[in-house]
Amino acid sequence: MDERLISLLSMAATLTLVAVVFFFISLLLPKPEGKTENLRNFHCAHPPSLINKEFKCEAFYPLISSLITQPLVLFFIYAIMAFGVDDLPYQMFNHYIADVPIVVQVLLGLLVIDISIWIRHGFVHKYLWSFHAVHHSAEEISWMTTTRLHPLDQFVMSVMDFVVLYVIGFSAEGMTLALLIKNWNNMFVHSNIVLDYPKPWKYIFVSPNMHRWHHAKEKEAHDKNFCVVFAFVDYIMGTYYVPDNALPKAYGSDIPELDDIAHKTILSELWLPFKTMGRTTQIDDGAQAKAQIAGE
Ligand SMILES: [Zn+2]
Ligand SMILES: [Zn+2]
Repeated sequence: MDERLISLLSMAATLTLVAVVFFFISLLLPKPEGKTENLRNFHCAHPPSLINKEFKCEAFYPLISSLITQPLVLFFIYAIMAFGVDDLPYQMFNHYIADVPIVVQVLLGLLVIDISIWIRHGFVHKYLWSFHAVHHSAEEISWMTTTRLHPLDQFVMSVMDFVVLYVIGFSAEGMTLALLIKNWNNMFVHSNIVLDYPKPWKYIFVSPNMHRWHHAKEKEAHDKNFCVVFAFVDYIMGTYYVPDNALPKAYGSDIPELDDIAHKTILSELWLPFKTMGRTTQIDDGAQAKAQIAGE
């Protein structure tokens, strides 16, 4: 077997092992009693359980992703590469990037992906909020919330992640490892873990607490913390919000029908974004939704 392929597979296997160990540790850690809990202590946000109240909707998303969204994404990428590649800029900086050590390529790849996520994530918050609100409708955040993405939201996300790296010209190894690490950190920051990093690390890497604030109902936290790997991208762009030693009081999308886990089903969750389309931002949504309920 090709040596590059063997080293890529062994790096991927090692990182998977680390991710699996973290996942099982997160299931075993109890939530400490009392109000004086230290948020820098690695512990669970809610009693650990594989099946929480969001499970009846979240359990379907890996299936929807595998059967519908990912095949569509792959078909789309194939179509771009097979039919449109001559007219599109691609592998623009491959000549320079190919000679860079793999570790630097992966770090550069992660930075490029995170900047692209900041742009794409800000875009869906502003213009596709009703679809992205599905991800924000989880009242309890856990590793399963990572994949709770409306197919349209996930399609935009996956195509952009691939196209940006491919157009710039990362090697197959650099691109694959950067995407894998981004996906694992994304799952880690969504997991049932309360963890804030000490300064200066909290300004460098996205912690589970930082992403918990992205899902917060508190108005000050709306449209903040768009990145999933590097906190400094949000900090530089003015969208960083991580209060010291504090956690949000509640999580949700502020669209009442979407936040109503007791009454909605997976089908209504997939249909609701089309009904509520046109709502613009998270803050506007809350106001508009309340106005609708009040009959205004
Ligand atoms: Zn978001
Ligand atoms: Zn999230």
